[in-house]
Amino acid sequence: MTTKTLPSQPRKASTVSRWDRETDVVVIGMGAAGASAAIGARTHGAEVLILEAASGAGGTTAMAGGLIYMGGGTPTQQACGFEDDTEEMYKYLMMASGPNADEAKVRLYADGSLEHYQWLIDHGMEFKPEYYASKSTNTPRDEGLIYSGNETCYPFDEHSKAAPRGHKGKVHGEGGGKMVIDKLSEKAIALGVEVEYDARALTAIINDDNEVVGIVSRIDGQERCIKANKGVVLCAGGFIMNPEMVAKYAPRLSLGNIPNGNPNDTGIGIRIGMGVGGSAINMSEGFICLPFYPPASLVEGIMVNGKGQRFINEDCYHGRMGEAILSNPEDKHYLIIDSKNFAALDRPPMGGFKVAEVGETIAELERDLGLTEDTLVNTLEVFNKHAKDGQDPLFHKRTPYLKPLDEPPYAAFDVSLNGGAYFPVFTLGGLNTLPTGEVLSEDDQIIKGLYAAGRNACGLPRCGATYSSGMSIGDATFFGKLAGKSAAQIEQ
Ligand SMILES: Cc1cc2nc3c(=O)[nH]c(=O)nc-3n(C[C@H](O)[C@H](O)[C@H](O)COP(=O)(O)OP(=O)(O)OC[C@H]3O[C@@H](n4cnc5c(N)ncnc54)[C@H](O)[C@@H]3O)c2cc1C
Repeated sequence: MTTKTLPSQPRKASTVSRWDRETDVVVIGMGAAGASAAIGARTHGAEVLILEAASGAGGTTAMAGGLIYMGGGTPTQQACGFEDDTEEMYKYLMMASGPNADEAKVRLYADGSLEHYQWLIDHGMEFKPEYYASKSTNTPRDEGLIYSGNETCYPFDEHSKAAPRGHKGKVHGEGGGKMVIDKLSEKAIALGVEVEYDARALTAIINDDNEVVGIVSRIDGQERCIKANKGVVLCAGGFIMNPEMVAKYAPRLSLGNIPNGNPNDTGIGIRIGMGVGGSAINMSEGFICLPFYPPASLVEGIMVNGKGQRFINEDCYHGRMGEAILSNPEDKHYLIIDSKNFAALDRPPMGGFKVAEVGETIAELERDLGLTEDTLVNTLEVFNKHAKDGQDPLFHKRTPYLKPLDEPPYAAFDVSLNGGAYFPVFTLGGLNTLPTGEVLSEDDQIIKGLYAAGRNACGLPRCGATYSSGMSIGDATFFGKLAGKSAAQIEQ
């Protein structure tokens, strides 16, 4: 009887009877991180083989809107008339990475952002110098620049000077992620990186000193042992498609009702790393959002809970909104708008939610929603009183979305977790790495021969409540490139 090869059980090199293939660097996965790692290693002289479980490149990157978080005065920012500063980007990213921010990674990322922008251009990307001003999850056409987080929102705007930093490649609509992967994989192959598709990594191969020296992969139904003379870079994505791992490490995230990933987001790369003693950190964190915009006119509405009370500044990023609702998942949540917001709707709400009730007055809406008498009425009274003066003393919603709701009739959308709204979710935890991509053990020792990047690693994005779009692909390309370079054993 043959035993199943498990990621938690690395194979001893001394038991490998035959190496099926040998190279310098083996990269597991060909998404944004894997393609960047392969380029990073190849351009520093290494022979590189990518093992990709699917029949083509892309992974979750190819499904993504493709925003990349970059700043400090990129040519696109400048051409659109925005001033930005590396230090302001650093301050914002420290906050956007959450309480568990990795200062060294944030510093390197902010300082290296202009260089990274150029690296992407050199590798085939193009960003149209056009800014999209409306609140949206992505640019609707091929505009290259958008606010993609909480930069202009309280409390972030009090800690750093806002600038739009979400860069999308020159492609129409949501095809930005596909463009990233097409360009990077094209370049990797042109540089001489070899790719084996339909090749699933199963576990690591280690020598007697616990150094990673290869990988066991299933190719054509057969297990193959591949020797990596310089290193293995794990870039196999997150674990949102693995319900057991989500239940074990991030049970809160199972509240999300749309796992945002590709079927291979099973966390196997993280488990392969853990199998050789790698430490996985921040595993409970993820990005969960309520895409309540576009249309932007909905941002003029107010969000209330089942007590008819506001709980957040509604102009915040949709991930912050998702987190806020998730923190009280049993409660009802409604988005209240008036007739001017309704008239301005230029498309159905993105988040799949439906109108729960309509009322000629707020009191009628309150009653029909089953809320306690005068709760919603009082909320609207206080909100409108201050909004008329451009103020929101309770939650600090900012202009241009701060407007009184005083034009009847009124409508309430049901945006509750249990009310049919979409709550897409993906994971942010992964292997503990140095900025070089080297994987660390529980006691912070470098595991020789092992590197990780993208959602296999715990990188720049670490906190759902403070995340901004573009931080994941930005991190995957930036630190993927560095991990490949380290694996090629060039001093960083
Ligand atoms: C709809 C949507 C929109 C998004 N929009 C954005 C955005 O605008 N900006 C942003 O920053 N982020 C966005 N994200 C998140 C972002 O796309 C991902 O977090 C990021 O692309 C992950 O990159 P990665 O390289 O780590 O993983 P992936 O791109 O998933 O690549 C991992 C690869 O590894 C392969 N693989 C898995 N297991 C194995 C194995 N055992 N052996 C070999 N290969 C394996 C997979 O097939 C896959 O090709 C979005 C996600 C979704 C779903």
